[in-house]
Amino acid sequence: MSSVLVTNVGLVVPGDPSVGTSRDTTICIEDGVVTGIGGDLSTPDMVIDANGLTAIPGLIDGHVHPTFGDWTPAQNTIGWSRNYLHGGTTQMVSAAELHVPGLPFEDLTPELVIALARVSRETTGRVEPGGAQMHCGTVLLVPGMKESHFDEMVEISLQHLKFIFFDWGKADWSEAQTYVRWARERNLVVKIHSGGVSRSGSSRVAGHDVMAAVGPDVVAHVSGGPIPMPDEEIIRSIDDLPEAGIEVCSSMNYRATKIVVEHLTDIGRLDQLTLGTDTPGGTGVIPRGMLRNMCFLSSICDLSPEASVSAATFNTARAHRIEGGSLAVGARADIVLLGPIQGSRATDALDCFALGDLPGISMVLVDGKPVIRGRSEQTPPPNRLASIVGPGDGGR
Ligand SMILES: [Zn+2]
Repeated sequence: MSSVLVTNVGLVVPGDPSVGTSRDTTICIEDGVVTGIGGDLSTPDMVIDANGLTAIPGLIDGHVHPTFGDWTPAQNTIGWSRNYLHGGTTQMVSAAELHVPGLPFEDLTPELVIALARVSRETTGRVEPGGAQMHCGTVLLVPGMKESHFDEMVEISLQHLKFIFFDWGKADWSEAQTYVRWARERNLVVKIHSGGVSRSGSSRVAGHDVMAAVGPDVVAHVSGGPIPMPDEEIIRSIDDLPEAGIEVCSSMNYRATKIVVEHLTDIGRLDQLTLGTDTPGGTGVIPRGMLRNMCFLSSICDLSPEASVSAATFNTARAHRIEGGSLAVGARADIVLLGPIQGSRATDALDCFALGDLPGISMVLVDGKPVIRGRSEQTPPPNRLASIVGPGDGGR
């Protein structure tokens, strides 16, 4: 058994909106799982002094585009997932590995898309030991799939599916509806590209009519990736999909995002709001993208900072049916310790989000192990740092 006691935590933000925040407290971790908030451990293997910083669950980027391993040709980037970890992201969900050079978007076959997803999953996953976890191997849904293809996806543990190149102008929508039914019967998660054409030029325009007819589990980048559907179609899509994840990405149209957040607030369904960056891709490579999204939502869209944390963690995990996203007893101990950067007038990390000031990260724990110590390489340091004060070094 390995145990970690985090002392002097200024504020714990649980991610799970049904759990309240706690101030001036401790976090107990045993074998990578949170076993207490406000408790004590008699002989911990490691003691971390959080030095008054805020603790939030590891961020979950619900929309990334990996390719193979830690290389993505979209921006000719290698090593990006480690940089995202330094931006507080401990898990990411692939929105399909579609940046493979030469991929024939107009001529994809079921066999090709399943093989592509499988290779990506086998080569990516958790790229470095103790790094961010990537849920990849997201199958592009294409015409001509049979139920046996869905059985194959289950057999090889592919969990996420995506409509993006499906031709809504020509194809028979009943085929897509059948795919969603087959996916539901197998607990697979269906995401759909919404809005206008994306960088590839080959994604298909999909508005409210498609959302309502197909009934996806997650509406990808509802406020634009980069072009959203018309405002009234956004509202109607949200109204017609009370169970779906409603995703906002860094590729957003800012004006439309405000409409999304205000509408979800008005109808009392903020628990549907999920976040992602939609990177690497046309929007770039953004290690601090999730934090910037949270700053935008809370400082411009009037979303409470607690709700921004929930969107970036708990809601995104739940919508994609993955573990994690909460900082409460029984949760996996993926934790970010962060706070205001010198020069900010914020008092804690929640205040940073409310003001729109990027917070600084001092430490990130994955499965209870501090994988970033001292300070992040991607944010300026917070004005106080967490440190390991004893008695062990966690078996480093
Ligand atoms: Zn995307």
